[in-house]
Amino acid sequence: MSEANARRVAVQTATSRPLRTLPRQVDAEGRPLRVSQYFGSRVFHVDRMKQRLPPEIFARWSETVEKGAHLDRPVADAIAHAVKEWALENGASHFCHWFHPMTGSTAEKHDSFLWFDGAGRPVEKFTGGMLLQSEPDASSFPSGGMRSTFEARGYTAWDPTSPMFLMDGPSGRTLVIPSAFLGYHGESLDEKAPLLRSMESLSRSASKLCGLLGSPVARVTATIGPEQEYFVIDKAYGALRPDLQVAGRTVLGASAPKGQSLEDHYFGSIPPRVLAFMEEVEFELYALGVWAKTRHNEVAPGQFELAPVFTEANVAADHNQLVMQTLRKVADRHGLTMLLHEKPFAGVNGSGKHVNWSMQTPSGENLLDPGHNPAENVRFLACMAGTLLGVYRHAAVLRASIASHGNDFRLGANEAPPAIISVFLGEFLTKIVDGIVSGAVANLPLGQAMIQLGVARLPAIAKDNTDRNRTSPFAFTGNKFEFRAVGSSASISFPSACLNAAVTDGIDQIVKWIEGGDDVLAAIRKALTESSPVRFDGNGYSAEWVEEAERRGLPHARNTPDALAFLHTAAAQGLFERTHVLSPEELHSRYEVRLELYNKKVDIEADVLKELVDTQVIPSVLAETEAVNGVPGTLAHSRKAAVDKAGSDILAARGALDEALAGVPEGSAADVAGYLCRAVVPAIAALRGAADASEKLVADHRWSLPKYREMLFING
Ligand code: ADP
Ligand code: MG
Repeated sequence: MSEANARRVAVQTATSRPLRTLPRQVDAEGRPLRVSQYFGSRVFHVDRMKQRLPPEIFARWSETVEKGAHLDRPVADAIAHAVKEWALENGASHFCHWFHPMTGSTAEKHDSFLWFDGAGRPVEKFTGGMLLQSEPDASSFPSGGMRSTFEARGYTAWDPTSPMFLMDGPSGRTLVIPSAFLGYHGESLDEKAPLLRSMESLSRSASKLCGLLGSPVARVTATIGPEQEYFVIDKAYGALRPDLQVAGRTVLGASAPKGQSLEDHYFGSIPPRVLAFMEEVEFELYALGVWAKTRHNEVAPGQFELAPVFTEANVAADHNQLVMQTLRKVADRHGLTMLLHEKPFAGVNGSGKHVNWSMQTPSGENLLDPGHNPAENVRFLACMAGTLLGVYRHAAVLRASIASHGNDFRLGANEAPPAIISVFLGEFLTKIVDGIVSGAVANLPLGQAMIQLGVARLPAIAKDNTDRNRTSPFAFTGNKFEFRAVGSSASISFPSACLNAAVTDGIDQIVKWIEGGDDVLAAIRKALTESSPVRFDGNGYSAEWVEEAERRGLPHARNTPDALAFLHTAAAQGLFERTHVLSPEELHSRYEVRLELYNKKVDIEADVLKELVDTQVIPSVLAETEAVNGVPGTLAHSRKAAVDKAGSDILAARGALDEALAGVPEGSAADVAGYLCRAVVPAIAALRGAADASEKLVADHRWSLPKYREMLFING
C-alpha cells in the first residue's frame, strides 16, 4: 500500500468508525442513576474519611488541613489503615504517590500493597509512613541544576489537602496519593509545593487585610476554575502524522480551503461521536470527584472546551491534570487523538486555558464579589485594588509564567490574548476606579463614598457587562478574574502560584499603607493610581495597543526566551522571596528547566520537520515532477515550471534550516534559547512555508500526509 493510499484508508477509517457508547448507569431496580449518586465514588473524600476514621483522628486531620499543622504518625497510621481498607474493598492492588514534576505533566510510581507477615504469608500492608512519604528514583526528573548528581534523590510527600482517589487500569485499580515532590533539603522539585506556599501567603495577607477592614476571617482560599480547550481528530490521521506524535502540533500542512471562515462551529451542536466521547469523559471525571460542568464546541473546527466548577487552587490544579489525562485516555477509546497543544494547526484558532481566579472566605464569601452592603463593598474594592497593584507590579512574572514554545504561536498572534499583560475591568467598574483615582470622593466618609461611587449596583451590572472583551489576557468577569493567557497544555500550577504571589504582594502593600496611617480609601486610591497603566479595556489585538503599552512601560516579551528572562531578575527574586513561594535557587531552577524545555521542543520540531520534508514532501514533489516530465503541451510545461520552483524553494529552505542548526552555540541554556528563537524558529517556519506551497500543487493522490481538510473536517 502506498503512502497516499494509507491516507485514503485513514479517511475511510475515520468515516466508518462505529459509535462507542456507555451502558446507562442504573441502580439495582434498573432506574437511571443520577450523577450525584455516583459522583466521587472513586474518591476518599471528606465524608468518606469521616465515616471511616475514629472521630478524634478525623478531627486531627481536619485541623491539619485547616491550619497547615504537622500530621503526626498515629494519625497518619490510622488514615493509612482506613484508606487501605477502602481501596482494597474497591479492588485496588497498588498505591502510588502522584506528583507534578517540572515537566508540566504528572508522574507516578506504583507499589503493591502486598507484604509478607512473620510467617511468610501474604498480607496487604499500608502504614502511615508509606502514606506520608515515598522515594521515587528522582534523578531523571528535571531540577534545573538544583541538585548535584551525588544527591540526586528526592522524595514525595502526601498533600493532605487534595483527596486520594482510585485510578482505573485495564484490569485493576491503584490508590493515588496526591503529593509534592521535594529534594533532600526540602527544596521544591515540582509544581505543587510553590502553589501550596503561594496559597498560604495569599491567605495570610488577605486575612490580614480583611481584619484591618473590620471583618476578620480565619483564612482565605484562592479559588480556581480552569476552562480547558482541546482538539480531537480521528486517530487514523494522528497515526500518520509523526509531527503530532512527537511535537503535538502539525509542523507542516497547507490551510484548508474552508478554515474557520464561516465560524459555524462555535457553540454549534456537538457531533454525536464527540458527544459520546465527552459523556464518557464526564462519567469518569464524576467518579473522580471532578465537577465537570460545561461542554461546548469552540471556535475552530474540531475544537471543544470542558469547564469544571471552581474549587481550591491546588485541588483545581490536580483536577486539571486529571481532566487532561482523562480526555487523552477516553479519546483513544473512541478512536480519537486529543490534541492539547496551544497551536496544533497553523491558521486555525489555537487552544488556551482560561484560569478563572478569585479569593474565598471559609464561609464561602467571594472577596471579589462586590457585595450588598458598604462594608462588603469596601472589602471588594480593597481586594480588587490589591489584585490590580500586584498584577501591575509583577506583570513581567505573570508573562513569564505562561511562556512556552507552544504558547508563542498563540500569544499576540491576533486571536488569543496578546503577549502584554493588561487588565480589563469593564465600563462600569472603570468608572468607579476612575472616580476613586480622580479624588472625587476622597473626602467623603467611607460608606458615603461607596454610595456615591455606585459600587452597590455593581453585582447586578457587572455579571452581564464584563465578559465582552475577549482580547484581554486578564479580565474581570463580574466576580472573578479570568487569566486567559495560560497555554492549553500547561499545568495551571505555576501561573496560579505566580498570580497568588503577585496579589499577595499587592495586598501586603495596601496593608502596609493602612498600618502606616493611611485611611482605607486613601490606600485603595494609591494602589489604583499606581496600577493605572495596567488597566486597558480596548482592543488588545491592535498594533496601536502594542505601541501604547510600550509607552506605558508595560513589559512586552514577544517570545519565550525574552519572557523567561523576566524570571532572572531581582524583582522576580524579591517577589518570590517575600511571599515565601520560591527561594532564589528554586526560582533559578524553574528558569533553567523552562529554558531547557523550550530548547528541546524547538529541537524536536526541527528534527521532525526535516524528516517529514525528506521522507514525504520531497518524494511527493519528485513523483509529481516525474509525472509531468516529457509530457507535451503548455499545461504540462507550466506545471513543470511550478513544481520545479516549489522543489527548489524547498531545497533552499531545507539547506537554510541545516545551516541555522549548525550554528547553535555551545553556551548556557539562555544563549541557546535566544539563538533558537532568532535563527531556528524562523528557519522552521520558512521551510514549512515552502513545503505547504508544494502541497497545494502536488496531485492529491501523490500527497502522503493527511491534510488539514481531512483532519479538521472529516471525522465521522
Ligand atoms: P462565565 O461563563 O460567565 O465566564 P461561569 O460561571 O460559567 O462564568 O464561569 C466560568 C468558569 O469560572 C467556571 O469554571 C467557573 O467555575 C469559574 N468560576 C466561577 N466563579 C469563580 C470563582 N469565584 N473563583 C474561581 N473560579 C470561578
Ligand atoms: Mg470564559
